[in-house]
Amino acid sequence: MRDPRYDILFTPVAIGPVTAKNRFFQVPHCNGMGHAMPLAHAAMREIKAEGGWAVISTEECEIHPSGDLTPYVEARLWDDRDIPALALMCDKVHAHGALAALELSHNGPTASNLYSREVLLAPSHQPSKYGYPSQARAMTKHDIREYRRWHREAAIRGKRAGMDIIYVYAAHDLSLAMHFLQRRRNQRSDEYGGSLENRVRLLREVLEDTKDAVGDTCGVALRFATEELLGPGGVELAEAHDIVGMLAELPDLWDVNVAAWYNDSVPSRFAPEGAQEPFIAFVKKTTSKPVVGVGRFTSPDTMVAQLKRGVLDMIGAARPSIADPFLPRKIEEGRIDDIRECIGCNICVSGDMTISPIRCTQNPTMGEEWRKGWHPERIAPKRSASRVLVVGGGPAGLEAARALGQRGYEVSLAEARRELGGRVTREARLPGLAEWARVRDWRTGQINKMGNVAIYRESMMSAQDVLDFAAEHVVLATGCHWRRDGYGRSNGLGIAGFAGNPRVFTPDDIMDGRLPEGRVVVLDDDGFYLASVIAETLRQHDCDVTYLTADDNIAPWSQHTLDYRHIRMRLAELGIEPIVSHDIVGFTGTTLTLEDVWSGHRRELGCDAIVTITARLPHDALYQDLLLREASWPDAGIRTLRCIGDAEAPGLIAHAVYAGHRYARELEEPVTGEVSFKRHFHSAAPG
Ligand code: ADP
Ligand code: SF4
Repeated sequence: MRDPRYDILFTPVAIGPVTAKNRFFQVPHCNGMGHAMPLAHAAMREIKAEGGWAVISTEECEIHPSGDLTPYVEARLWDDRDIPALALMCDKVHAHGALAALELSHNGPTASNLYSREVLLAPSHQPSKYGYPSQARAMTKHDIREYRRWHREAAIRGKRAGMDIIYVYAAHDLSLAMHFLQRRRNQRSDEYGGSLENRVRLLREVLEDTKDAVGDTCGVALRFATEELLGPGGVELAEAHDIVGMLAELPDLWDVNVAAWYNDSVPSRFAPEGAQEPFIAFVKKTTSKPVVGVGRFTSPDTMVAQLKRGVLDMIGAARPSIADPFLPRKIEEGRIDDIRECIGCNICVSGDMTISPIRCTQNPTMGEEWRKGWHPERIAPKRSASRVLVVGGGPAGLEAARALGQRGYEVSLAEARRELGGRVTREARLPGLAEWARVRDWRTGQINKMGNVAIYRESMMSAQDVLDFAAEHVVLATGCHWRRDGYGRSNGLGIAGFAGNPRVFTPDDIMDGRLPEGRVVVLDDDGFYLASVIAETLRQHDCDVTYLTADDNIAPWSQHTLDYRHIRMRLAELGIEPIVSHDIVGFTGTTLTLEDVWSGHRRELGCDAIVTITARLPHDALYQDLLLREASWPDAGIRTLRCIGDAEAPGLIAHAVYAGHRYARELEEPVTGEVSFKRHFHSAAPG
């Protein structure tokens, strides 16, 4: 039963001519499937509608070939042939009583046109945003009229597809309607440039066009960035006050946030829940129309407070709806403990960035709704009365045990340490990563409710222990450790002077509380978040830290999770100077010899210790022992043995959770062929 304190979250809201059944609004989010994988996309959106969200939005939707976003795969409505793919989503969303929303966008100079080969368009002549060696041309008045026509026609196509809400997009530095607002992008001297009234003109016209075209049956939403944190070249809060004042009653709904995407979907390491409030709270005071905003909200108490304090009318969510598509239903059913809270790691963002189907650390079914038929709440019952032994209580082992328990198997989980969570517990103690412990906490919380999963802590298992345990199925999720010898992408033969050197530390040492002193070089050959977190840890410990990488840039993969800029700024704040494009060729214990990877020039650096972050090795000794003793398995009653997660091949926490989930899903299920998932096949019919 629902807690009456949360009743306000389940009251309806009118959005122009349509009504949202409650206050949960899945705002637009990219997913790497888009127009290329419409079946997978529709199934993903449907699950959220089933989970209780009142509004389900698309990602940004291209309206014309001159706003082509290739290689990114978003939604597309260039002409009528694109309607069926989005109609599919509308039908699925409507089947659960939710509204479908469409985020129309023409990205002007922030498009690519790599596929369409059209010339880029912009308010004024300017370079394309993403470094393509081409410029966008200044739009003529004719172009502006054409743009308005394309937008209008796309809105009508959206309505024909079944959309209930049509968005005008002026956020994230990603759409012409916003580019005309920005002084740095708009240097026009006609009635579309110069004064604020002129720069707002196009946005007003597009809003009016959209209302005129589809406003009889569709709500018209405006997604608007109130601040870009770029100073006078960008939209600034003071100006945003005026813009909201000028357009206050024109849209049927305001969806407000901070630009660009890295300031909107900030990783939890750099911003807490509700961090956008200072930038968006004014909007509700300026308009009588409903306001939706985001803040990685996962707590119903915080959501209620947002409504009661008059900050928002609807709780917007992208990441919380990815981590738990059933979040609204769980609040409605009084199952607060069951909410799988987003950890703010932004692995979901990396799907869009790497042009691959979205995945989520907390929710391993994300992106598999259609491909594998995985449902975030349901799983097939067990096939037999077999017992399963899970060795290792990190993310892989915990998820395997939880999902096997949900299937009804008798599960025993043995963990060597006193604490559960493996790497998640250890990493969550590092600066800024506390929320990552939610990966452990949700799983242990669920397991604790199950009568068929037993957890044995401080139980280091040997091969003999496993044989003696006599379970039919054994799965090893024993994790991995960081290498000490310097071996990695940059040094295929390791680094001279590392092996056996007591002044060479690994991330495991740091997480175990063994910290170096003095001048410390953090060697990053991993390229993601960990080196910067270790550098921050050491700085807090008063070490004099240098960040070193053979790459031309620090933490290149963190671009895919929107961490990159925040990492750079954090290192700068901490006074940690990065040295890039240099490799280590020798270490005496007090002096490091560096080599420029391009010139070969060598130099020396005084250094008391190194933390080497290069590569990991699986803890697979137990697996190897058991393989050697395969002849003993039948007597021990063991039918299958598997090694999963970091113990199979070290990866992200998301990979480990997925591996545990997949193991549980597939146990004793028939194998369906070489390809374990459904694929989209495109017809070869002439276009
Ligand atoms: P993953 O990310 O694959 O889940 P982790 O390193 O996070 O891997 O977790 C592995 C867990 O397995 C750790 O908590 C570790 O203590 C535990 N472990 C490793 N070897 C054994 C073993 N032989 N018996 C029991 N637990 C083990
Ligand atoms: Fe949240 Fe991480 Fe899942 Fe994204 S991938 S929804 S940030 S838990």
